[in-house]
Formats: sequence, C-alpha cells, structure tokens
Amino acid sequence: MSILVVGSVAYDTVETPFGKAERVLGGSASFFAVAASFFVPVNLVGVVGEDFGEEQLQAFRGRDIDLEGLERVPGKTFHWAGKYSFDLNARETICTELNVFETFKPKIPARYRRSEHVFLGNIDPVLQRDVLDQVERPRLVACDTMNFWISGKPDELRRTLSRVDILLINDAEARQLSGEWNMVKAARAIRAMGPRVLVVKKGEHGVLMFTEAGSFAAPAYPLEEVFDPTGAGDTFAGGFVGYLAAQDGGGARGPEDGAALRRAVIMGSTLASFCVEAFSLDRLLRLTRGEIDARFQLFKDLTHFEPL
Ligand code: AMP
Repeated sequence: MSILVVGSVAYDTVETPFGKAERVLGGSASFFAVAASFFVPVNLVGVVGEDFGEEQLQAFRGRDIDLEGLERVPGKTFHWAGKYSFDLNARETICTELNVFETFKPKIPARYRRSEHVFLGNIDPVLQRDVLDQVERPRLVACDTMNFWISGKPDELRRTLSRVDILLINDAEARQLSGEWNMVKAARAIRAMGPRVLVVKKGEHGVLMFTEAGSFAAPAYPLEEVFDPTGAGDTFAGGFVGYLAAQDGGGARGPEDGAALRRAVIMGSTLASFCVEAFSLDRLLRLTRGEIDARFQLFKDLTHFEPL
C-alpha cells in the first residue's frame, strides 16, 4: 500500500508579517509527501533543476518517501514567491518562475504503476490525466487544482475531474469552478462533474466536506502562533489522503466510508495546523507521531458538546 504523488517541488521565497524566508524548500508535492509519509509509504514524482541541493533532499530522506520518480534535469528548480499581509488568509503571488517545471512531463517509474492511491497535485490537468493513463486502475484518485487551470483550461480540467474520486480545493476555487456562489449548490455542481467527495478548504475558517451522505464541517485548530500558511492546503491533503490510504489497507471502503472520511478531515486539519507554525516544512520535519495523535484528540474536545 502506497501513495503516488505528482506535483511541484520548489524553492519558495515567502514574506509574512513575522519574517522572511528565501529560497526554502516548498512545492505541493513536498508538503504532501512529508505529511502523507506519517501514514503510508509515498512515491514522489516531480522535477528539480541542477540547483536543487542535497540539503533539500535530506527533508525526504530518512522517511518513507521514494525518490526514484524525482527527476533532476538541466536548468533551475521551480521558484515561487509570495507575500502575506496581516490577514494570513490572503496572499499575493510575487513571482512564479516555472523553470524546469515548464517542460515537465511526468514519467511514472514501473514500480509506481500499481499504486492504489494517487494524489494529483496542482499541475496542468492534461498532465494530471497523463499520470492516470500511466497507472493501473488506482482505488482512489484525489486531486487539487487552482484558478489558473479553472479559467485557463476548463475543458481539460472537466475531463480530468471525470476520473477523480476526491477533489480538494479552496472556497474561491469551488465558486469559480461551479459558477455558483452558494457552497451547497457549488458542491452539488462539482460532484456532478465526477468527484464523489468534495473537500472545500477555507484557511483559518476550517474545512467543509460534501459526500453522497451529506456534509461535514471541521474548524481549523485555534493556534496562538500562526507563522506561515504556505503549504497548509497540500499538507492537509497529505494528512487526509495518507490517513485514508492507511485505513483502506485495513479493509475500509475508501471514499465510501463516511466515518473514515470524517477522521481523515480531522487528520488533514491536524497536519495543516502544524505546517503553519513555521516557515517551509520546518515544523513538519520535527513533528512526531505522538504530537499528531495528541492534537487529533484535542480536535475532538474542540467540537464536542452534550446533546440537549
Ligand atoms: P498551498 O499553500 O497549499 O496552496 O501551496 C503552496 C505551495 O504551492 C508552494 O510551496 C509553492 O511552491 C507551490 N506553488 C505555487 N504556485 C504553484 C503553481 N503554479 N504550480 C505548482 N505549484 C505551485
């Protein structure tokens, strides 16, 4: 049992009201892989340039993250720079230098083709489908996307979504994709496009999940210190899919298992709450399974109340 993840591996330059970090490890696949590796082995597919250092690779080594699918090619690694104001829910992209990511064509190593769980990070929907074409009938396909693809390649995105079980996006993206302002209507429209499960991320306002059985809401963990929200969405996805994949191996029914899906939302929220406590992957790399389990329990107390 393992998860195949495809997405960006990046250098990020991030400025928040609390400080600045230059050219630190980032990228959707990096955050996802480290978070998911707490639960199941992860096979990472991505691309970096010649400038990607051994120090960055150390983040993945010593965990259950297979790097055979991480290509190193001539050129520079993808670089993203962003800036947050005091409202940490809103960020401004300062620059996106695609570099080696511009000509990225995911090649799935033979060993990865039987992956039962796949996470399609935020890349061109055509490439996301290319990945699905290279794997043998996965049991669960989860997917992320962003405004750039929703407006830029709507038809390609629709074709990809028809092959996706779980879509994880933020509230603005859900509205844009569906053309509906109301989130319940938006969820109905998006689920009709293919995904049986829609997870809507709302930053510090938590998460809403929509399934056949109805909806489930989880708050974000109320933290005293939020330092850098970059990667919280991908880290959520890593905790969510990682937890589900671990359950699936135990005979649960994957996206059909309502109780496991709810616990997966809380596990995703738990992992994301650690991610935002420091720049880059710094907090995730020091995280222990004991800390994860303790905060997961705190979520139970956070939302528990006695019935009338
Ligand atoms: P999140 O905060 O979860 O939305 O993810 C932030 C991460 O996404 C950063 O580490 C960036 O390196 C990466 N990222 C930003 N823009 C893009 C893009 N256009 N394509 C792929 N990855 C990106």
